[in-house]
Amino acid sequence: MHSWISPGHLDRVEGLRNDPDWIAGLWTDPGATVLTVAPTGDLACLPNRTSLRFSSPSGAYDPELHLLVGLAAQRPCFAVLAEAVGQAASLRDLAPHLDGTDTELATAALALVNWHRVAPRCGACGSPTVVTAGGYTRHCARCGRDRFPRTDPAVIVAVLDDDERLLLGRHAAWPTGRLSLLAGFVSAGESLEQAVHREIGEEVGVALTQVRYLASQPWPFPRSLMLGFVARAASTLIRVDGIEIVAAQWFSRPELADAVASGEVSLPGPASIAHRIIADWQSGALSDPFA
Ligand SMILES: [Zn+2]
Repeated sequence: MHSWISPGHLDRVEGLRNDPDWIAGLWTDPGATVLTVAPTGDLACLPNRTSLRFSSPSGAYDPELHLLVGLAAQRPCFAVLAEAVGQAASLRDLAPHLDGTDTELATAALALVNWHRVAPRCGACGSPTVVTAGGYTRHCARCGRDRFPRTDPAVIVAVLDDDERLLLGRHAAWPTGRLSLLAGFVSAGESLEQAVHREIGEEVGVALTQVRYLASQPWPFPRSLMLGFVARAASTLIRVDGIEIVAAQWFSRPELADAVASGEVSLPGPASIAHRIIADWQSGALSDPFA
C-alpha cells in the first residue's frame, strides 16, 4: 500500500493554478487525462478493478466542472463528477492495487469532488461561490475571500498494554468479529493528543500514560485525515461505552494471528492506516514505541 510518509508524487502546481487561461490550455493538452468520480464516490476503473480508467477531455473547458487535480509525470489530470461509463469501484478496494501516483491522484480527486458537492455557498455569508484555482479554492464575491477544501481530523490509536498486547474494538455498526483500532474525530478546540486521551477514555474507559504520533493518511470518505497514534494503557480493565464501541479485547500477537487465521476475527482492509499500524505491531516494528 502507499506509505503516505514520503514526498508526494503529484505536482499540485500551486504557483500556476491561479491562471485560468493556463488551466484551460491544459484541458486541451494532448496528454491530458480525466478521472471520473461517480455520484456514489466510486472511481472509474478498468474491468479488472485493479487500475484506474483515465479518459481524454471532451467538450469545452468548464472551470466549474473540470477540477485540475495536478500534474502526474508532467501530464495534467482533471477530476470530473459524472456517472462512470463502464466499471467503477471504491477507492478502498482500488488503492491496494494502485501505484503511488495513482493513489494520490485518486485520493485528491475524490477529496476535491466531495468538497465541491457540499460547499457551493460561502461558509461566512451564505452567498454562492465559484470554483477558482482549478478547483483548489472557491471564491466568494461578496466577502472577497477564498474558501479552501475542508478536512476533518480523526485520531486512530494502537493502544498497548505493558505486555505489548494490542487493544481492538468493534464499532456498533460492524458485524460480529470485525475489529479495528479505536478511533474518533477531533473535537472543536482540542489538540490531537487530547482527542486520543478523550476518545479512548470514552470508548473503552482506559486511561493512557503515554501517547506518540505515528503517521497520517488522507481518507476521503468523505473528508477525513486519519492521524495514527500509539498509546500505553495505564491498566487493562476495559469498560466499553456500549454505544459506539460494543466489544473490545486485548490480543497478543499469536492470539490475533490465530483469530484471523480461523476467521473468528476480520481486520480493516489493506488501504487503511489501521491495517498498516496493526501490521507494524504484528511484525514487531512497533516494539518499544516509547523508548
Ligand atoms: Zn461570503
